[in-house]
Amino acid sequence: MTTLAPSSLIKKETALIRFTVLGSSSSANAILVESSDARILVDNGFTLKKLTETLNSIDMKPEDIEAVLVTHEHGDHVKGVGVLARRTKVPVYMTRGCAHAARDRVGEIPELRFFESGETLAFGSLSATSFSVTHDAADPVNYVFSAGKARLGLATDFGHCSQLARARLRGVHALIVESNYCPHMLRTGKYPPQLQQRIRGRMGHLSNEDVQHLLRDIRDESLKLVVLSHISRDNNRPEIALALAQEAVKGYDVEVHVAPPDRATPTFEVHP
Ligand SMILES: [Zn+2]
Ligand SMILES: [Zn+2]
Repeated sequence: MTTLAPSSLIKKETALIRFTVLGSSSSANAILVESSDARILVDNGFTLKKLTETLNSIDMKPEDIEAVLVTHEHGDHVKGVGVLARRTKVPVYMTRGCAHAARDRVGEIPELRFFESGETLAFGSLSATSFSVTHDAADPVNYVFSAGKARLGLATDFGHCSQLARARLRGVHALIVESNYCPHMLRTGKYPPQLQQRIRGRMGHLSNEDVQHLLRDIRDESLKLVVLSHISRDNNRPEIALALAQEAVKGYDVEVHVAPPDRATPTFEVHP
């Protein structure tokens, strides 16, 4: 005979991740990732004032953040990291290459902690496994977060979706992915050829079509939620990115959302 545990004893919340994209554009990025006992920020391109306002809009304050994880040293991801770290003494995690390259931009960080790409960082029930990506930055990484059986993938700021990135992102239940540019708009837009080449190159950004390829590759019964982020104001339109991503997961039970550039998304839940 099987004895079932009373439902109140089943700690469902340990198998749950919540996330809020606080902002996502070529000027400022920050993502809040939470589990039942951890609250971390991935990148912070915001001033302390703007971050505080955005956190207040979801009933939080900068002091509530327990750790900041950085993907890479570009200004739109680290501009606000130093000020936040000095104000709240929050520990900041970076690869050594990133810390070295970000030094002038972020200044002194009281609690700077290094990790090697590929390492898993643990914060209570929430763990963050980093993986290397190809981007024109020093030792850039992305992360797969897990808590219990729930898994959330982050895929931002890379120009080429490597085997490693695909392997890491396969099987996630939710994915935040940059859908940076529309190749046609980039080609016919106002950016000089050199900058166009940078964006389009292997060390640049993911296009709407790249996202389609990635989604077609990793879509399976696990994937339930996709949030498109880091959409270029100049070289893309949210509705184009959305339509192409939706097309890629057609026939699968996947919700697709677009993160607005200047305000927080709703808080999404990741269920296994
Ligand atoms: Zn960026
Ligand atoms: Zn970047």
